[in-house]
Amino acid sequence: MTDRVSGVDAMKTLVARAGLLCLALTLGACASVPLAAPWEDADHLRYNILYTNDPAPGLNVEVFLPSSLPRSVPRSYPLDFLFRQPGRVGSLVATAQDGTRFEFFPREGGVVQAPRGTSVIRYHYPLASAPGGSGRHLFGGMGEGDAWHVAGKAYLLTPRHVTPEMRVDLTVSGADALLPWQPDASGVYRLSGADLIDAGFHAFGGRRCEARVGASVLEVAVLGRFTHLTDAELCAWLEQAGREVVTVRKAFPFPRVTVRVVPVPGKATPGDFGMTLWSAPPSISILVGQDATAASFAKDWVAVHELLHLTHPTLMPREAWLTEGLATYYTELARARSGRQTSQQAWQELANGFARGQAAARSRPMKAVIAEEGNFMGIYWTGALFALHLDVELRRATQGRGRLEDVLELLATRGPTATLESFGAAVDTVAGQPLFDALLARHLPKPAFAELPPLLEALGVRIDPGGVKLHAAPDSGLREAMDGGRTPDDAG
Ligand SMILES: [Zn+2]
Repeated sequence: MTDRVSGVDAMKTLVARAGLLCLALTLGACASVPLAAPWEDADHLRYNILYTNDPAPGLNVEVFLPSSLPRSVPRSYPLDFLFRQPGRVGSLVATAQDGTRFEFFPREGGVVQAPRGTSVIRYHYPLASAPGGSGRHLFGGMGEGDAWHVAGKAYLLTPRHVTPEMRVDLTVSGADALLPWQPDASGVYRLSGADLIDAGFHAFGGRRCEARVGASVLEVAVLGRFTHLTDAELCAWLEQAGREVVTVRKAFPFPRVTVRVVPVPGKATPGDFGMTLWSAPPSISILVGQDATAASFAKDWVAVHELLHLTHPTLMPREAWLTEGLATYYTELARARSGRQTSQQAWQELANGFARGQAAARSRPMKAVIAEEGNFMGIYWTGALFALHLDVELRRATQGRGRLEDVLELLATRGPTATLESFGAAVDTVAGQPLFDALLARHLPKPAFAELPPLLEALGVRIDPGGVKLHAAPDSGLREAMDGGRTPDDAG
């Protein structure tokens, strides 16, 4: 692998020279000459990442600075860099073109200023936080032996100012890596500046399995040992969750998505914690109790919840109540539609969640609850109630023809991101009338969950002391269309 990379380097140097020669001629001539493929230009950064476990697990990173720059690049570039999640790299070494080496250090906030004339920056990133070679930090490094989980933003030194034109080549050696992206035929990841900022989750080493959903594939890295689970059982669990995503969207939303599974020692919870990061495509990591069994996956909601985050666009700026609300709402519907739980169980789960949310919200208005960073119960379940209400109002307005999932389908044709306004506009398009703003304005100032009792009553969902009962009501037909209308006999 090293040899092949060296060959590519030599070719790039030649191409870079050819490019400069071309610039010396006329611009018109340049445009018509079949120069190099874009990645062969000299105006890009290159990262070489070497996994090492000698004496402890870590990453040796080399950052090659560009030899020429597009005009749009800020003057501070390429010398101003940043560790976006600083803390583990103590010092760096800059090498100038003449071979002079200079050790320098990150400043407060992870700011790194390379000396003038630097052509390569080198540093070591320790994956293990403890000297014994283990570590338990989802972003900073989590793993054992030669199987490690880390967030790209923890170990990648990135330019402080990134432009959309910026191109980045990245290679990995020393371990089999699972990054959000796929390398090209020569093993090089061809990335943009945006990929460096939203670098997602990465895996080094471990084992691999695959889950297929229609024409899509989930590439899975299993990063450690499980006492009862085989890799095939882990992948079957993710495949089931993937199939449930397709009860919400017409097809699985991405052709290829990566999932990292990390065991949690001393726990038997199937899905203990999950997180989806907005790389392109998004990358998912799930912590699974080391002692979990395949049978316990039947009741798991974490995997399907994380995969359901693939069904909606990234909200910019962030609107966690809406994205978490969508994933939380559909987690119950999707598991009912697939037959993993009955309709009654789905509404029971929703009712239980709303009760937990209400306890966390107390009597404060929705507006205050969703602004409270860290109030997960309040944020997730006020959002889930809003998603439910939105779905019901859409179906009411269109006699059942327009659904909340049609909004997600429409947004998917409009790009990977949305604003609250464009999300609302998509709702109104599906409804065929203004709906979103008025419904949100109705929820925000009232005590969170004030809209819940009349909504459940209209849907024919009664919360009895012994559990949820479903009955005929004005909108119970809509309810059955939403949850698939499965009775215990169907699920049996
Ligand atoms: Zn979530």
